[in-house]
This record gives sequence, C-alpha cells and structure tokens, in this order.
Amino acid sequence: MARSPFEWIDEQARARSRAGLVRTLRPRPADSALLDLAGNDYLGLARHPEVTEGAARAARTWGGGATGSRLVSGSTELHAELERELAGFCGFESALVFSSGYAANLAAVTALAPHGSLIVSDAGNHASLIDGCRLARGTTQVVAHADPDAVRKALDTRAGPAIVVSDTVFSVDGDAAPLTALAAACRDAGEAGETGEAGKPGRPGAALVLDDAHGLGVIGDGGRGAAWAAGLAGAPDVVTTVTLSKSLGSQGGAVLGPAHVIDHLVNAARTFIFDTGLAPAAAGAALAALRLLREEPERAARARAVATALYERLTAEGLEAVRPDAAVVSVRAPSPEQALRWAAECRAAGLAVGCFRPPSVPDGISRLRLTARADLTDGQVDRAVGVIIEARR
Ligand code: PMP
Repeated sequence: MARSPFEWIDEQARARSRAGLVRTLRPRPADSALLDLAGNDYLGLARHPEVTEGAARAARTWGGGATGSRLVSGSTELHAELERELAGFCGFESALVFSSGYAANLAAVTALAPHGSLIVSDAGNHASLIDGCRLARGTTQVVAHADPDAVRKALDTRAGPAIVVSDTVFSVDGDAAPLTALAAACRDAGEAGETGEAGKPGRPGAALVLDDAHGLGVIGDGGRGAAWAAGLAGAPDVVTTVTLSKSLGSQGGAVLGPAHVIDHLVNAARTFIFDTGLAPAAAGAALAALRLLREEPERAARARAVATALYERLTAEGLEAVRPDAAVVSVRAPSPEQALRWAAECRAAGLAVGCFRPPSVPDGISRLRLTARADLTDGQVDRAVGVIIEARR
C-alpha cells in the first residue's frame, strides 16, 4: 500500500502521547451536575432566561445565520444596536462586532500595523494577539511580561507608526497589565512638532491596543472593562477588543475605539470583510446580557469577590496561586502529570476545573485554572475549595 501523506502526523501523535500531552474532547451533557469552575461564564449569564430568550428571539426574527458577510448581507439592525450599546457601555465612540474575539484580535492588530510599523507585544499575550502579530505586515517585538520599561525601549527603535498590544487581564494567570504605565509609554513615544512654517512636524505617539476579553463584565464600574477602570475608555489613542463569549455568555467579539479607527477596520480588516457576520442568535444573547449587566451592576463585584475568596481560601491551605485581578484564579501544579491527575480527581468529585499545561503555557508551568462566577453561592465556593484541597492529597 502507498505510504500515507500523514505519516508525520502519526509520528507527532506518538511523541505527544509519550509526553503525556494528548488533548481530547469531552462533550458536556446538557444536564451535567458538575460544579463548573472551568468555563468563562463569569457572570453566570449563559443560561439566564433573558439571555437565552434574546438568542431565540433574534433567531426567529433574523434567522439562524447572518446569511453573508457584514458588507454584503450580514449586517442587521440587531448588529448595529449591539455595536451602539457595547460602545456606550464601555465608554468608546464606536464598536464593530466580529464572529469571535479571535477574529476581532486578528482584525485590530493586522489593520493597525501596516508595512513599516512596529508592534510591541507582551510575552504573555493571548494566542489570538500573537497570531495577529504573525499576520500583520508590521514588525513585531515581543517584550517581557507586564514591563512598561521594556515597552519604552522597544518604542525607541521605531521608524514609523507603532502599536503596543496587551491583554488587560492575562488569560493564564489572571494578572492585570499595568495599563496606566503602558498608556504613558505610548504617549511619551510621541514628540511635539515645532511651530512655524519651517517647523518639524513632530511625531505621533504609539496606539495602545488592549484585549479586554477577561476584563469586560468583571473590571471597572459594573463591569465596564479595564480601559474604563484605568480612565482610558474613549481616548483617541486607545483601542480595545472584547469577546462576547465570556462574561456576556454568548459568542462573538468586538473592537471598540474612535469612530475613524472603526471605519478603517470596516474597510481594511480581512477577518471582518471576508467572514460571515455574527449569527443573530449570538448578537441577541450578547445584547440581552449587556442589558442585564447594566441593570445589575453588582454582578461584576460579586465575580471579583468570589475570585478573591477562592484565592484566599486556597492559599490559606498552603497552595500557591496568583492573586486575582479579575475572575481568573491560577493555582500552580507541581508538574503537568500532577496537574492532570489533580484536575481528574476534582472532576471525579463533581468539580470541573481548567488544566493548563505546556505547550499552551510557554513558561512550562502547569496550573489549575479556576474561574469565579458571580452566581456561585458561598456554599458552592466552600465545596469547590474542599474538593480542590482533598483532590491534591
Ligand atoms: N483573548 C483572550 C485573552 C482570550 O482568553 C480569548 C478566549 N480564549 C480570546 C481572546 C478569544 O475570544 P473568542 O473565544 O471569542 O474567540
């Protein structure tokens, strides 16, 4: 028989298996009794009746799909409404909705980093930002994690336009980026022009592009996001991306920023132009969740309080964890194998937790990743802590 063109895949699979790093899918039954600290439904809205009804109503009104790309047939009044309300809630002039946060990040980075530009990217950034850097025509400099001085040094080397790209809350460890210092580094990279006819034109500062996937709904007044909390929302040199799939319990993403920047994305971002518009059901669910968030601002504070409680209780038991800045609580595991065993023990005891291992974590540190939810009761927090401690033994 002819040799398979996929032999190399089988070789990779064997190597993965030898290293104990095989990933498998585990379909979740609708009636799962697991206590879920693995998903990103930070506000407990994914199954909220108003959110599911928002999805159903949108599907009935607009159909099961958007029918085409946004520039052809896929823009509905529902998309426009969601964009207006998202921008308004987060304090930005304009918003553009995408079919995922991943696509939104690819759009923001590629469309804002043309040939000859510099992208300064935090080493801890999410894969979607990394992929945006890889696809962009500009040159990327990866800088040390959460290090504004390294950002300044990198910006000194630029010859053309520059953007600084960072998660607001890093997805693996749940730590926050130093947004105020990053914004200052961006602005200090500019030089005022000389006045008068023969004066030199000066040079603009760098733009700050923030991925607020884990900040929206959790950080800032009532969950208005990390840019809002840092006083950067609506600034002329700041662009934020969000996902609709975490605190808003839906699916999709968005880029928020000055209107002329959003107009540029409509005309230049390939993941906007060539992708089918966000499904109406996802837009309807996100809009309903956003309205709930506005009416019930206490949800954001509750998610943060649950995260802090998990952190304090687990570290009091001697576990090593990162102090959470939002809803993600990262607990260190001694090895990839032990992380896997630990997560499996938790699951057997009725608790779903995330398990992050190399190569998803480039620093080689394995972790249990817990996500706080606003709808967890104190009793459920007690139970989760008990299971995690017991499962470690
Ligand atoms: N950015 C960050 C920081 C994320 O954690 C994620 C989701 N894992 C994304 C972007 C991608 O968002 P989406 O799932 O909506 O594609």
